[in-house]
Amino acid sequence: MTRMDVVQSNKNRANDYVHEVYELVKKRNPDEKEFLQATREIFDSLRPVFSQHPHFIEHGILERITEPERIITFRVAWEDDQGKVRVNRGYRVQFNSDLGPYKGGIRFHPSVNSSIMKFLAFEQIFKNALTGQPIGGGKGGSDFDPKGKSEREIMRFTQSFATELSRHIGPDRDVPAGDIGVGKREIGYMFGMYNRLRGGYEAGVFTGKDPEHGGSLGRKEATGYGTVYFVEEMLKEKGLSFKGSTVIVSGSGNVSTYAIEKAMQLGAKVVACSDSGGYIYDKDGINLETLKQLKEVENKRIWEYTKFHPHAEYHEDCSGIWSVPCDIALPCATQNELDEIAAHTLVANSVKAIGEGANMPCTLEAIHLFQEHGVLFAPAKAANAGGVAVSAMEMSQNSMRLSWSTEEVDERLKGIMKNIYTSCMDAADRYGRPGDLVMGANIAGFLKVANAMVSHGIG
Ligand code: NDP
Repeated sequence: MTRMDVVQSNKNRANDYVHEVYELVKKRNPDEKEFLQATREIFDSLRPVFSQHPHFIEHGILERITEPERIITFRVAWEDDQGKVRVNRGYRVQFNSDLGPYKGGIRFHPSVNSSIMKFLAFEQIFKNALTGQPIGGGKGGSDFDPKGKSEREIMRFTQSFATELSRHIGPDRDVPAGDIGVGKREIGYMFGMYNRLRGGYEAGVFTGKDPEHGGSLGRKEATGYGTVYFVEEMLKEKGLSFKGSTVIVSGSGNVSTYAIEKAMQLGAKVVACSDSGGYIYDKDGINLETLKQLKEVENKRIWEYTKFHPHAEYHEDCSGIWSVPCDIALPCATQNELDEIAAHTLVANSVKAIGEGANMPCTLEAIHLFQEHGVLFAPAKAANAGGVAVSAMEMSQNSMRLSWSTEEVDERLKGIMKNIYTSCMDAADRYGRPGDLVMGANIAGFLKVANAMVSHGIG
């Protein structure tokens, strides 16, 4: 066989392998559409890896990496303010621990199900690997809806959730953090319950804690800031920047708020943001102080922004935000919020760059459309890794029993986002798709985990 024949035969074998394993994953996880979407996106990128490193096929890496090490499902019973017993379902997916303890947030949202938990945990494996820190991938949550619940109801639910969760986590085993519907308040309740049950104080068991009580400074800002740092690197490469750009950001929660703040600090004008009810458009630029007061402090709806800024417009239907003309769009709300139709509108309005702050906010069709039209695209796995990177810093600070200043954390975060960008670009170059950050992120993250899995043996 000539060298060309060997290359071709490795290519064929890699294609067959990826196809066969994807069919297996589909069969094993029927109807789990988000999980299948996330695996599909990774699989599409990995063909050249298996073609160049056929030993990964012999080690069954793809079959193993798509099967969670453990999925824990549990009952969460609690009592509402009227004394009625309520029951929700809790989850913790401990997907992969080859690089370190499972690490990933807890989500409280009525849409939570096994498919969403698995897709989030699966993505987390590669994202965590990209940060270069020793953390594995996991995710958890419940179909509990915090909206409309009293403070005490949230506390009782969260404590009941933490009672079961506590059996499965620990500072060297599994370290949860926040996500949609879970902030420092809920983390505080879970942390308190865990310590009561253990009869001690294990600071490193949760991250995203209040900085006054063992949390890291800069964690709250980290995902949003990190997304903007990553997009800034991507823009720089093309001689562009946030300065003078018009930006839209979906959502108005934790990630969105701090993406807006950092984009503004870098000189952008952010003209729109949203919640699940609708979006606001402020042609003069969103007033961040009003936004924080409404959403962070008072937990109000986004339409109330217009009470304080009557010139701003409120539109029902949150997906309408993508029709606002902009240079940069940052989807920071939830999965599959930006579909092909929205992508067409953005492209028609000459968008230059997309940065995913949320997990999997763009559908596969939307991503392909952006790439076809030469729109710069920063995938979530890489772009929103800043949150978990600072969570890992929180674990380090807890272990060392000291705390770093906001400036120190932010400097480290910037460095990490820059490194992630470079490793994604390098991987895309090395595997034949220069500039394709989707492929670069998937490959760079995958290689770290796959090499660790090979070194740990099969089992
Ligand atoms: P939050 O709960 O703080 O905020 C979510 C925001 O999105 C809310 O404003 C919510 O509005 C809004 N929203 C929900 N669905 C839609 C929709 N269809 N259209 C528009 N807005 C919507 O969550 P986070 O900011 O923490 O998380 C947002 C995303 O970022 C998630 O995908 C999460 O997994 C991801 N992420 C979060 C990290 C973190 O550190 N927090 C780390 C990495 C990723 P409403 O109040 O109406 O529900």
